[in-house]
Amino acid sequence: MSRPDGRAPHRQKIAILGASGSIGQQALDVIDRFPDRFEVFGLVSGRRSPGRTAPYVIQGDDPDRDRRIEEMVTHPECDLVLVAIPGAGVLSATLAALTAHKKVALATKEVLVMAGELVMRTARDHDSLRPVDSEHSAIWQCLWGESLSSVSRLLLTASGGPFWAQPELDLSRVTVEQALNHPRWSMGPKITVDSATLMNKGLELIEGHHLFGVPLERIEIVVHPQSVIHSLVEFVDGSAKAQLSNPDMRLPIALALSYPDRLPGVAPATPFQELGSLELHPLDTDRFPSVRLAREAAARGDPYPAVLNAANERAVAAFLDGEIPFSGIVGAVESALAAFPGGGGTLEEVLAADQFGRDYVGAWVGKVRA
Ligand code: MG
Repeated sequence: MSRPDGRAPHRQKIAILGASGSIGQQALDVIDRFPDRFEVFGLVSGRRSPGRTAPYVIQGDDPDRDRRIEEMVTHPECDLVLVAIPGAGVLSATLAALTAHKKVALATKEVLVMAGELVMRTARDHDSLRPVDSEHSAIWQCLWGESLSSVSRLLLTASGGPFWAQPELDLSRVTVEQALNHPRWSMGPKITVDSATLMNKGLELIEGHHLFGVPLERIEIVVHPQSVIHSLVEFVDGSAKAQLSNPDMRLPIALALSYPDRLPGVAPATPFQELGSLELHPLDTDRFPSVRLAREAAARGDPYPAVLNAANERAVAAFLDGEIPFSGIVGAVESALAAFPGGGGTLEEVLAADQFGRDYVGAWVGKVRA
């Protein structure tokens, strides 16, 4: 692809944190289809092998893992780092990449939830941090060419998860199997449970607040069961923009890699004339209190969202292990936030808050089971 100035774009060397996961594998699919644009510089995976070679290949059992990841993401030849390992463990590597002025394509929302103030300060200009989360990619696209002062609201769409459309269902009796049965997206178990509790939207609310610098009270959640409208931006004149497509994570992944260009044929075009109705509904925050909890944690500032995130991660694991009921997830998070004595937003304080959330819920689960 050539640019208006006639020069071919620089071939970007890409490091992937989370190469064997769903986002990492789809990123490799995009990279392989555009060899004139991208090449793989590094692959980090867990237990599973990434299944190919690169200048850096770092697997879960590498005793020197953390040091090698830092070396890779700050290497002079590395252009872009795709962060796609779920959880809190990639915060330091993300900060290291941003400090070294690398472009970062961010799929791991926990990074911005835990330490949004610190991460955005480190990212400095917004072009260096590119969202991969589908809702934030949509908002990012809607904001191109717009000034932040003309934005009145961000509307984050939520599929509603498996339980939103069943208002009669008693959420305290939901099984693991029911919670893992997401109607639209096929994802890992942690994020699928987060979609069922709607905590995923709570985390995305915090993510959007930091990424786009929009106050929390001007970000709202809208239930959209079809998952075609990936989010909306409303402007001061009363008009709004949305980004639409059939759900396909290759679209936000490719855009985060190729920005400001769009690559041809990343996903099949959406047959809009065959879609029928697209519904938008308000979220019942009494039935799904997780968004309210996230909003309150974010309003108190860092490191409260780190407590929320860690407590939720630990509680979701306990639910998946059959230790607490589905409704206990949000209960555990609320209890951890109430018990947190407070702290600041430095990396050390955020990591301490993260540890507090995990330890607190671990003890809480023990008491529930006893
Ligand atoms: Mg999302």
